[in-house]
Amino acid sequence: MTAFSVGRLPRVEFGAGAIRKLPELAASYGPRVLLVTGARSFDNSSYGPALLQALHAKGCSVSIVKVQGEPSPELVDEAVRAHHPDNISVVIGLGGGSAIDAAKAIAGLLITGQSVLDHLEGVGPELPYRGPAVPFIAVPTTAGTGAEATKNAVLSRQGFDGFKKSFRDDALVAQLALVDPDLMVGCSPALIAANGMDALTQLIESYVSTKSSPFSTALARSGLEAARGGLLAWHQGGAAASAAREQMAYAALLSGICLAQTGLGSVHGLASPLGAYFPIPHGVVCGTLLAAATEVNIAAMALREPHSIGLTRYAEVGRLLTGAHGCDDAEDRAALLRLLQRWTEQLAMPSLSALGVSAADIGRIVAGSRGSSMKTNPIALGDDEIAAILSARL
Ligand SMILES: [Zn+2]
Repeated sequence: MTAFSVGRLPRVEFGAGAIRKLPELAASYGPRVLLVTGARSFDNSSYGPALLQALHAKGCSVSIVKVQGEPSPELVDEAVRAHHPDNISVVIGLGGGSAIDAAKAIAGLLITGQSVLDHLEGVGPELPYRGPAVPFIAVPTTAGTGAEATKNAVLSRQGFDGFKKSFRDDALVAQLALVDPDLMVGCSPALIAANGMDALTQLIESYVSTKSSPFSTALARSGLEAARGGLLAWHQGGAAASAAREQMAYAALLSGICLAQTGLGSVHGLASPLGAYFPIPHGVVCGTLLAAATEVNIAAMALREPHSIGLTRYAEVGRLLTGAHGCDDAEDRAALLRLLQRWTEQLAMPSLSALGVSAADIGRIVAGSRGSSMKTNPIALGDDEIAAILSARL
């Protein structure tokens, strides 16, 4: 069997009603809580007021940082400046991927007081991070990024010369990931679609990654089976939605655990410049590109590396997602592409041009796509192949 390593993982509490364990678990770290949450979602939620009350009842003081949109280095630095003197005992990131990533970065820097720009990959001096981090609890309220299980916080600056880069270190991994599918009840169909496609992309990219291992493959397989039953059923609503929501919360958690072990692929390579240059949510970028990127990967391997293990793995993904028991790998890969195209349409993933991207932008998006994710794509793609993924979705 191939040798492999398992990176650091959080303790996990998964299940409906798990939020009720949070006050006691948080208080076990000490009395000063910094809660990092979405701009409005927390105030309007059914659980927010009860959680604050329960934390106060445990003797905790709670300071709140609100995150609007995807987090910037400035937001992180400002929160660190404001709360550096407060002797915070635990940071809770409660919200979507943006709130969790912001909380992860803030928890990492509260003690050192340094700017996150000192450590951000590919931006600034890239000084080594030596910690220590304040204990961090991640509580996702959407089923998508899996940020509750990963060691990187993605921060972005939007615009023509924007960037979307990671602050990454083992010390940033949450002490506890508390995943309560009941917190995801209010997600809109559009949010379910985008976040679900992100989780699906992460599971598939991990499964076919050049760094996949028997350990990551087993988890990705379980996540893909959950996504197969969960994604469309939750999106459509109705009687099956509650069980489907739990399946997607599980799939998203596993997608984070998997990506932390294996890295990702071309979709996430492209998500970095696309999300930096255009105000497109991460899940939408993944959702709109997944089918086209899978097709380009399969075609490139069939052409140049016909004996690649990646082709076998894509056939396995096809069987996992379609339920087919085929004995013809090429047919199972074709079935996978048909399913991904169908889901892209059913989940109303917009075209890139509808998102403000034009053919003239393709060159600089391709140039910005060769970050860490692209390095674990199952085949090294040429610029023309990466451009073809984008062209197919214009
Ligand atoms: Zn992602």
